[in-house]
Amino acid sequence: MLLQNKKIAIVGGGPGGLTLARLLQMKGVAVKVYERDINKDARVQGTTLDLHEESGLKALKQAGLLAAFKQHYRPGADRMTIVNEHAEIFFSDHEAKPEADFGNEHFRPEIDRGPLRMLLLKSLQEDTVVWDSQFISAERQGDGWLLHFKNNASAYADIVIGADGANSRIRPYITAIKPFYTGISGLLGSVHDPEQTAPHIYELLKGGKIMAYGGGKCFIVASKGDGSMSFYISYKTGEHSLKNLADKAHILSWFKNDFLGWSTVWHQLLEHAETPLMPVPVYCMPTDQSWETLPNLTLIGDAAHLMPPFAGEGVNMAMLDALELSECLAGETYNSLPEAISVYETNMRKRAALMAQESLDNGERMHSEHALQDMVSFFNDHDLQ
Ligand SMILES: Cc1cc2nc3c(=O)[nH]c(=O)nc-3n(C[C@H](O)[C@H](O)[C@H](O)COP(=O)(O)OP(=O)(O)OC[C@H]3O[C@@H](n4cnc5c(N)ncnc54)[C@H](O)[C@@H]3O)c2cc1C
Repeated sequence: MLLQNKKIAIVGGGPGGLTLARLLQMKGVAVKVYERDINKDARVQGTTLDLHEESGLKALKQAGLLAAFKQHYRPGADRMTIVNEHAEIFFSDHEAKPEADFGNEHFRPEIDRGPLRMLLLKSLQEDTVVWDSQFISAERQGDGWLLHFKNNASAYADIVIGADGANSRIRPYITAIKPFYTGISGLLGSVHDPEQTAPHIYELLKGGKIMAYGGGKCFIVASKGDGSMSFYISYKTGEHSLKNLADKAHILSWFKNDFLGWSTVWHQLLEHAETPLMPVPVYCMPTDQSWETLPNLTLIGDAAHLMPPFAGEGVNMAMLDALELSECLAGETYNSLPEAISVYETNMRKRAALMAQESLDNGERMHSEHALQDMVSFFNDHDLQ
């Protein structure tokens, strides 16, 4: 095997990095994950994730973790209501969609980020993850790399895999290409106890998702396993125009001003959101990117191919990268590491470029003046099959 007696360092313990660690360990490979978070209990923030049959779920199946996933996913959380800016319903699949339909390519079960991370962590050998290891730099040492971390620790690895997400610090060691701004930004927030604090939206949500469209603006709400709701409000605006909004009165006046004509129903969420709301400008790696393969360093997930979140493909591509890279590195097909990494990277870039383009196109569609009609007909055509 190409990885015999090699030390592998995965930088970043998100879904991509942890899936890769699991798959490599199953093949007997010595692997460490260096993760920035202080420990496993650090709060994993963000919206929920839907896993797809041909990518995220495929990787979990190969990792022997489908049964664990079935214990932790949230049946019904993939059901959707599409409304206009006045919260009037134009589409709902709550009645028609089955709770579980594993094996159907249109079934995209939802899981919160925290439980997904926990089930991956539990599958790893003890001490695989080295917490509180924020990577800051690397230098070549022999045929491998000496990695340096913010806590002053260092570690040697024969092969380094950057799985450190959107703002990857590993990426510059292989390519100078940077993500570009897509023209869309959003604010991310969450509301606790929404049944009491935002009853109208809670009723509409029914444990699933709401997508609201009006005037080129988009308001997405998702239920979470701990009973809270997360929301993401996005529109076309300047790259740096959204700031941390901490003051409730300021948040409301921003919404009333920038979301002119939207119903006061949405104010329930903004009035009870945890503050500050987090600005999320949307970036994408160029779809025609390429780089020269290195024999001892590569990228997976957002580090390799950051894309907008508008097709729900980011986490799925990260987990499929993990599966394909593990097969290239720890399989018997290739004669050398450069060959194995080159095959992985070529296929990964091609596949991710298609998904990134779809995500960019969806972003345009979701933020156009006729988004409501377009999204309703899209889901009528695709969702209820
Ligand atoms: C608002 C929003 C909504 C989204 N919704 C969806 C969705 O519905 N479906 C979907 O598929 N995708 C969605 N995405 C995208 C998805 O979150 C990412 O594509 C996915 O998490 C990528 O996984 P990853 O493992 O590559 O990186 P990440 O999940 O970003 O994990 C990277 C890990 O590396 C660690 N790290 C970072 N820097 C360092 C460092 N210097 N040293 C050590 N460790 C480091 C981080 O702490 C983290 O644990 C969304 C993104 C956003 C912003």
